[in-house]
Amino acid sequence: MEFEPVIGLEVHAQLLTRSKLFCGCSTQFGAPPNSNTCPVCLALPGALPVVNREAVAMAVKAAVALGCKVSETSVFARKNYFYPDLPKGYQISQFELPLGEHGRVQVYSGDRTDTGKIVNRQEKSFGITRIHMEDDAGKSIHDEERSHVNLNRTGVPLIEIVSEPDFRSSQEAYDYLIHLRKTLLYIGICDGNMEEGSLRCDANVSVRPKGSEKFGTKVEIKNLNSFRFLQRALDYEIERQMQVLSEGGTVVQETRLWDESSGRTFTMRSKEEAHDYRYFPEPDLPPLKLDPAWIAELTEAVPELPGARMERFVRQYGLSIDDALLLTSTRATAEYFERCAEVSGNPRSSANWIMGDLAFALKNMGKEIEDCPISPDSLAALISKIDSGEISGKIAKTVFEEMTRTLEEPAAIIQRLGLAQVSDEASIGAVVDRIVAANPKQVAEYRSGKTRVLGYFVGQVMKETKGQANPQMVNELLQKKLADA
Ligand SMILES: [Zn+2]
Repeated sequence: MEFEPVIGLEVHAQLLTRSKLFCGCSTQFGAPPNSNTCPVCLALPGALPVVNREAVAMAVKAAVALGCKVSETSVFARKNYFYPDLPKGYQISQFELPLGEHGRVQVYSGDRTDTGKIVNRQEKSFGITRIHMEDDAGKSIHDEERSHVNLNRTGVPLIEIVSEPDFRSSQEAYDYLIHLRKTLLYIGICDGNMEEGSLRCDANVSVRPKGSEKFGTKVEIKNLNSFRFLQRALDYEIERQMQVLSEGGTVVQETRLWDESSGRTFTMRSKEEAHDYRYFPEPDLPPLKLDPAWIAELTEAVPELPGARMERFVRQYGLSIDDALLLTSTRATAEYFERCAEVSGNPRSSANWIMGDLAFALKNMGKEIEDCPISPDSLAALISKIDSGEISGKIAKTVFEEMTRTLEEPAAIIQRLGLAQVSDEASIGAVVDRIVAANPKQVAEYRSGKTRVLGYFVGQVMKETKGQANPQMVNELLQKKLADA
């Protein structure tokens, strides 16, 4: 029997506010343990929460960017459970009336090469069930002798983005998460750092006979804190469930954890132990009512999203979808490209340099494009020097290497190293004469009709002029000379 997996993702994203969701404590990562705390986030008796307006604004922007309908009224609810790093004994979340619902995103899915290019690209549409706001719990750290609790993260604002069970492969889930992260970074509401826990992902996975409408029994996998873990854990779990079913067994509804070192998922808790959170509306907070004018203002403030920008790059600059996808992979890359294209007047060449030599140089320097020491204006200046014929494409590579080393402007490097292209007919002509005179055998071949030997002569002249001769002029002079010889 052929099976197909059904996957849904629950993604928690930490909002980039300076203060927590219900108090004024700092959200700074890495502060001394328990220093970012106050009576509200320590849940001392009598302390009352007050909603952070900036966090709501960011959550609304995320909902808009993910195509959700923003609710004018949403309700905070208590999600009750005991955990040592949760002093309140509940999280303040949203349950029946979330901030946003019924979203949809268009995602390019397919295998990725080392350079991030998508192979066998397909455009897919995935549904988003809901986006709600909640406060985070603290962090427990266990060493060999004791456990420690750090409440700095307690009360940090999160949004939870729940997808529809729309993914049919680990690749689709992976591509959706890439899209989600990219979108949140574009709108500047989350830093997307999975290692520091500001983006976390749980997955629901089930398997069913292909063609069946009915869902199989689902298993939840927790703690997928990297893109690689997500894909590996899903592949493992899909395989495991198919194995169980094909042996005539039944999949048990449970929560499993991914263990990267053994490359397996294992049982964390079964359905019998599953939480009943006993949600009820938070009595300390009134319903969250948003002024429609404010929602409109926030909608207006959402910048051009990666998908729209990608389409515009294809339209405006004549780029392929593959190139436009790469150049819009981060907002900084897109902005670098647009500036370079504008200043040089050559979008095609700008794209090639950014995706090729610049990407390679950044990789070697261990830098992101945000910290690129070569400004888009400097790269544009280099491109203009090629386009004006001042240097050849080959010499440009040398100039670029020097730029990455000394951070000088291209004009200064060309001057200092004497790299300007020679377009002086007399001096190129002299070299041409010399080369032709020195190679009688090849001249005879050329004259007998083997014109492809011209390439040999061009190569010799370029070698002699250290690549600085204007190639077009070399070609013309050689052809003339050989015809006359
Ligand atoms: Zn606090």
